[in-house]
Amino acid sequence: MRKNIVAGNWKMNKTFQEGIEFAKELKDVLANEKPNCDVVICSPFIHLASLATILEVTEIGVGAENCADKVSGAYTGEVSAAMVASTGAKYVILGHSERRAYYGETAEILKEKVKLALANDLTPIFCIGEVLEEREAEKQNEVVYNQLADSLFELSDEDFSKIVLAYEPVWAIGTGKTASSAQAQEMHAYIRSVIAKKFGNEIADNTSILYGGSCNPSNAKELFSNPDVDGGLIGGASLKVNDFKGVIEGFN
Ligand code: PEP
Repeated sequence: MRKNIVAGNWKMNKTFQEGIEFAKELKDVLANEKPNCDVVICSPFIHLASLATILEVTEIGVGAENCADKVSGAYTGEVSAAMVASTGAKYVILGHSERRAYYGETAEILKEKVKLALANDLTPIFCIGEVLEEREAEKQNEVVYNQLADSLFELSDEDFSKIVLAYEPVWAIGTGKTASSAQAQEMHAYIRSVIAKKFGNEIADNTSILYGGSCNPSNAKELFSNPDVDGGLIGGASLKVNDFKGVIEGFN
């Protein structure tokens, strides 16, 4: 059966020291109250090795927010999937709308990143979602279908089954404007139907599809109660331990 997952995305926040402090605090908090879902922290590259060491004995996973689309070589400033894996991280967010919009990440580039992440035993948390104009034009299904098809449809069944998806309507990210519970369920059910058609019912049933976009302690429970919403990718509310804990408690 698919897993329920709450994954934090720190984005470009937290100094090294702040990140370490957060991990230690979260470790203590979750040792006292066992979560009813998998918990992952995705951080900037600089934190990864230390977070992985601090959280090694816990069930809290660590992930990167990106990785390179090349194996190695003269790509100044880039960090490869192998480097991410060598820190002890197990996940990597790929295709976040901020990477697509601000850093020109195309479907082709993301296809390469997914391949390299999988080759290095990282679980991609692959983000898809429409912008406001697309939602207003009722094109959200078409947009999401194309994002899936263009980057993931060439994967084998075995490789696709290692992917976690995150539906993140771009208009809901960091805006305080959450998709309604019904909108989230409708899209997640659609995504699962697309996967079923392409990869079969069993893989579709086993794929975790997270919701992302202004998810916080006060709306997490309702969002997560939908049958096709298997958790959340959490930006703003992953920056404070109490808020993140509140989101995790959406599964209580
Ligand atoms: C995100 O960046 O993935 C995200 C969901 O952000 P926020 O929770 O702040 O909307």
